[in-house]
Amino acid sequence: MKQIVLAIVCSFSFIGMSQSTDLTSQLYDTYENYKETSIGKRRIKRADIQPLIDKYSSNEKFKVTTVGKSIGGKDLSLISIGSGKTNVFLWSQMHGDEPTATQAIFDILNFFNSVDFKVEKEAILANLTVHFLPMLNPDGAELFQRRNLLGIDINRDALLLQSPESKTLKRVRDSLDADFGFNLHDQSTYYNAERTEKPATISYLAPAYNYEKDINETRGNAMKIIVFMNDILQKYAPGQVGRYNDDFEPRAFGDNIQKWGTSTILIESGGYPEDIEKQEIRKLNYTSILSAIYTIAKKSYETISIEEYEKIPENDRKLFDLKITNANYNLMGNSYTIDLGINQIEVDYPEHDSFWYSSRILDQGDLSTYYGYETLDASAYTIKQANVYPKTLNSLAEVKALNFKDLLQQGYGFVRMTTIPNNEINSPFPVHLIGPKYKIPELKLEPGINPTFLLEKDGKFEYAVINGFLVDLKTESIKVPNGMIYK
Ligand SMILES: [Zn+2]
Repeated sequence: MKQIVLAIVCSFSFIGMSQSTDLTSQLYDTYENYKETSIGKRRIKRADIQPLIDKYSSNEKFKVTTVGKSIGGKDLSLISIGSGKTNVFLWSQMHGDEPTATQAIFDILNFFNSVDFKVEKEAILANLTVHFLPMLNPDGAELFQRRNLLGIDINRDALLLQSPESKTLKRVRDSLDADFGFNLHDQSTYYNAERTEKPATISYLAPAYNYEKDINETRGNAMKIIVFMNDILQKYAPGQVGRYNDDFEPRAFGDNIQKWGTSTILIESGGYPEDIEKQEIRKLNYTSILSAIYTIAKKSYETISIEEYEKIPENDRKLFDLKITNANYNLMGNSYTIDLGINQIEVDYPEHDSFWYSSRILDQGDLSTYYGYETLDASAYTIKQANVYPKTLNSLAEVKALNFKDLLQQGYGFVRMTTIPNNEINSPFPVHLIGPKYKIPELKLEPGINPTFLLEKDGKFEYAVINGFLVDLKTESIKVPNGMIYK
């Protein structure tokens, strides 16, 4: 008897899930039809989304409301669609340098504006009213920084409500008395799923609403939606999902919005191999959030077991961009074996619309509990200083004409110039540029230095590391986005 009951419960839940899963793969496969191509990189600003908001303002299917202004006077816009009783509220980019979900929101709006998926859309719009507040921190986005112009983290202002952006978020939440809330962020690309080399491409949290971390119906429903979305992610990015620690943070919006009665789902977009501008992650946001919206409309999430939530691996922060293991390193006449953890760190150009790299050794020693997006077993190699090319060059054109692979194979990682043009911030070449009097320091590996050296085996340089990027000198390609300038 017990077995029969179980079978009924399971098959019921299976029907609910499989309907949405079919939709999910269709959403994933047809994504390019809805992608908002005018915003295709991470450094987007309020002015970039204004034409899109204007488009929906003049479209009777949508209701667009200016619900507030940032400290810097930029509009905060709410875009709503649907006529259902259940209110779903999504807000993105309260941290200005976390734009992935803002892009996905405009993809989702394109989906709603299209004539496709008629049946599914009717089901959504009859049962739900969906509200989007993209780019809650437009002043931060302008500078590609986390904090707002007051210099505070909006996500620690849910109680004091000092920032107009915070006031707006609370006022909108309260006026909608939203049933479901999607709190949309980006996280560091160095997060991984605990004890695995897989990046946490997406991490989830159903925030706690008290120190006891109780699970009431509001929080339980958020957990169910997360279990549903995790299943989708496992299909397209297996193993690449993490779960945030659920310690109660009384100042944070997610925790408070859960407390105020909105089932709150925190989504953090992390890293994905070779997806610098996070466009694959954006697509995964689009697919999983839209599927979740459909599941809320159909109420098919209700049968999902919240026990599955706890089975999602926890987030950890154990990734480097480049991990070099077991390299031989000579120091003061002795030889040592050392691992190196290297991160390729972005520095914005003054307009905050693009970036260059100034990489660093983050850690060294036994890094066997860490992982890398790229790893090299250097046990057969010895780390050697990169030297200065003996000829001094007069122009960037002369530098450009060099054969960089030959240079690196001869052990040269620095090129001296008579004068370095004033407007150059970094070297556009896979070598560093140095001024006429600059003396390169003797290589001493330590955290904080720019990772530049050669890896020698049997008297030959087989690899170079220039500004934290690995070059395999046995192949033709050199993928170093930029070097440094030392005047
Ligand atoms: Zn954030």
